Amino acid sequence: MKDAFGREIDYLRLSVTERCNLRCRYCMPEEGICKKRHEEMLTQEEMVRAVEAAAALGIRKVRITGGEPLVKKNLLAICEKVSRIEGIQEVCLTTNGTLLPRLAVPLREAGVQRLNISLDTLDPQKYAYITRRDEFYQAIRGIKAALSAGFGRVKLNTVLIGGFNDDEIGALAALTLAYPLDVRFIELMPMVDGREFGRGAMVSNEKVLEALPQLEPAGEDGGVARLYRLPGGQGNIGLISPVSHRFCARCNRIRLTADGKVKTCLHSGAEYDLKGLDAPGMTARLRRAILEKPACHNGLSPEQPSGAGRQMNAIGG
Ligand code: SAM
Ligand code: SF4
Repeated sequence: MKDAFGREIDYLRLSVTERCNLRCRYCMPEEGICKKRHEEMLTQEEMVRAVEAAAALGIRKVRITGGEPLVKKNLLAICEKVSRIEGIQEVCLTTNGTLLPRLAVPLREAGVQRLNISLDTLDPQKYAYITRRDEFYQAIRGIKAALSAGFGRVKLNTVLIGGFNDDEIGALAALTLAYPLDVRFIELMPMVDGREFGRGAMVSNEKVLEALPQLEPAGEDGGVARLYRLPGGQGNIGLISPVSHRFCARCNRIRLTADGKVKTCLHSGAEYDLKGLDAPGMTARLRRAILEKPACHNGLSPEQPSGAGRQMNAIGG
């Protein structure tokens, strides 16, 4: 359905858990999360009911995310059920990749069509620093498992952090020459727990264009990503610039958190609770949420962090 500003809302990001086996410094605190009670979280049935209600309102694409979706016990059953819902045309999943060696093939069989895998560096020591876990080689094995499981267009997501990985733009982009992968650079968003990164950490994606003058426009519509290609590249280079280029006017998405809150803007504190509702109740609340989706957020900067009110792992980034 259309929101109050004429945007067709057809994309739902479904967070299936807040938990994660990594502790990326820009996303989650070292001590993990203050565990919510089991009864506060959506059950598998409620997640499926919510997607059915969303599909009836015009949602066509679902991205399963988290936290780390692959640590969720009943993930395959959720994917299978969501991919069978009438109206859902595409089911994708975002993961840190470390559990893909075991799960890539089962995910494909459960109806997941595309994978986005997060990888911020090609250096095992830097990986251990940024994720606070020693899982680099598992993540690389996971990327290889995704490619051999036959997913169409695997995308790597890299959060660009000044002084950390801006010296690796060329090496990361070169992966698109060697493999059938897209590489997407994402600007670091100042979320609730982003304080440890100083002023220089938010690097505009324009830095990618400066570092790679040979990039050519890919001539494809990448949605919120601006798409380029290296000459001879097998995949695209995408620039996702939530800080330097707000894309609110093109925003077609809503989010559902693992504890049942609909968030219609990543950077707004407004939430609509679906927990415990029956199907008509969920449909009514989703409709209201979509109609109240804000036109835009207020802008992000180190002085003006996100108004999300939650850490990224508890939203479903
Ligand atoms: N655990 C999965 C993963 O890492 O891909 C899925 C959830 S994670 C929250 C989704 C995406 O959000 C990841 O690509 C991560 O890098 C990104 N992310 C988390 N915090 C961010 C921040 N402060 N700024 C920009 N991107 C962020
Ligand atoms: Fe976990 Fe993903 Fe957050 Fe990293 S970005 S801590 S992998 S949820």
